[in-house]
Amino acid sequence: MLDVLVIGGGNAALCAALVAAEAGAKVMLLESSAREERGGNSIHTRNIRCMHDEPQDVLTDAYPEDEYFEDLLRVTKGITNEALARMVIRQSSNCRSWMRQHGVRFQPSLGGTLHLSRTNAFFLGGGKALVNAYYRSAERLGIQIRYQSPVVGLECKGNRIVAALIGEPSAADRDDVRADWPVRERIEAKSIVIASGGFESNIPWLTEAWGEAAANFRIRGCRFNRGRVLRQLIDAGAQAIGDPTQCHAVAIDARAPLYDGGIVTRVDCVSLGIVVNTAGERFYDEGEDFWPKRYAIWGRLVAKQAGQLAWSVIDSQAHGRFMPPVFPGEEAQSLPELARKMNVPVEPFMKTIETYNDAVVPGHFDHAVLDDCHTKGLTPAKTHWALRLEKPPYRAYPLRPGITFTYLGVKVDEDAKVLGFDNVYAAGEIMAGNVLGQGYVAGIGMTIGTIFGRIAGAQAASHASRDHAPS
Ligand SMILES: Cc1cc2nc3c(=O)[nH]c(=O)nc-3n(C[C@H](O)[C@H](O)[C@H](O)COP(=O)(O)OP(=O)(O)OC[C@H]3O[C@@H](n4cnc5c(N)ncnc54)[C@H](O)[C@@H]3O)c2cc1C
Repeated sequence: MLDVLVIGGGNAALCAALVAAEAGAKVMLLESSAREERGGNSIHTRNIRCMHDEPQDVLTDAYPEDEYFEDLLRVTKGITNEALARMVIRQSSNCRSWMRQHGVRFQPSLGGTLHLSRTNAFFLGGGKALVNAYYRSAERLGIQIRYQSPVVGLECKGNRIVAALIGEPSAADRDDVRADWPVRERIEAKSIVIASGGFESNIPWLTEAWGEAAANFRIRGCRFNRGRVLRQLIDAGAQAIGDPTQCHAVAIDARAPLYDGGIVTRVDCVSLGIVVNTAGERFYDEGEDFWPKRYAIWGRLVAKQAGQLAWSVIDSQAHGRFMPPVFPGEEAQSLPELARKMNVPVEPFMKTIETYNDAVVPGHFDHAVLDDCHTKGLTPAKTHWALRLEKPPYRAYPLRPGITFTYLGVKVDEDAKVLGFDNVYAAGEIMAGNVLGQGYVAGIGMTIGTIFGRIAGAQAASHASRDHAPS
């Protein structure tokens, strides 16, 4: 019998599988996708957030534990388990050497609108290179890897999960998490690690919280995270954590594909201009805070607009100051011409621009700090980086909500053990809600997945080595 069965094929699953195999366990990993699509949302990532008390390899300055925790507290508004969060933060200080040992390489952090050189280590080649490196390490360690193996059921005996049921590969594309699907194979193991992500790719499930608007959402990551195993686990008695109606959503280019648009479809010039809805009206302060601290609210803001569509509008003063998205913006030499290209009524659009321009108080523009360029007497205000829109060419990017991940997960303890179960461990997005109850700080998804993945792998291997339960 297998010692450890890992369900999922992204960062958290791979970290767990590697550690379990290195502890001497016989490990199998089940990935829904085909080999060429392996790696889940982790392939889209670029960086991991790490604490450090002084400059370290690719990280500048210091990012102490308390500051990291304060950042987490601010975004979660206290919805976090402090013991688990601090454990993750502390272990993030030394995880890069482990990652390097398994083939991951890092690059110097980028400058620009993201302001991340102090806090986040960037993967050379991005998440795809990271995932590929881990799969190579997994193959070297003799981990059995099964692609096109969606788990469609869990077989429970008391407080143990004794086997996972693999469905036909087509089941990976189905949304009905409660249906009985044909089972192709049954796999037993002494310990199970569940790292199968959230349910963000399941649009009917998203519709339960968002109604018809969900039909206009785009999923930034893979199409395989449909929440099938999460649902099973909760139905089998696992305690749920995280608001099932909430998801992390950013504003992405409306022309992005339904799945896997990834990072290149994110529109990063919001704080450099203004955002209007299809009626040509502004609806939120574009300069409220640094972009990495605010980009995650814009998906939700756009989701509330008619047709779930909005436009980020800039002039030439913003060109070259942000990472250009993959699709070029609409461009025009005049603002009325731009409005026509956007299919937004010209008159209200021009009124919005004129009112905004009139309200801008000149200051010293500096995108690297919370500068003094703001509006006066305008609702909603633009509190930083407010420059008059008056220098052609003008550009506009269409925005839609892009869903990154959902918050619903299962409760775990510091050993990554799923509460209420004897031999079940969870890592990554499926348990991230224990640490990140709401909001987001860039790079913490990979921190949680890496740290809890390694813990889950070690604990699952250790459990398997002690396991004397009758099979
Ligand atoms: C565009 C984008 C950019 C991001 N950038 C960053 C970043 O730079 N830094 C950061 O920290 N976070 C980032 N995130 C968040 C990050 O992707 C997640 O926090 C992280 O990848 C979660 O890892 P995971 O292993 O839990 O899930 P995933 O990597 O999503 O893996 C889940 C795996 O489970 C498999 N699976 C699902 N259901 C089943 C089933 N029934 N049976 C078998 N297998 C199944 C999937 O195929 C997949 O392989 C980003 C997310 C997106 C979408």
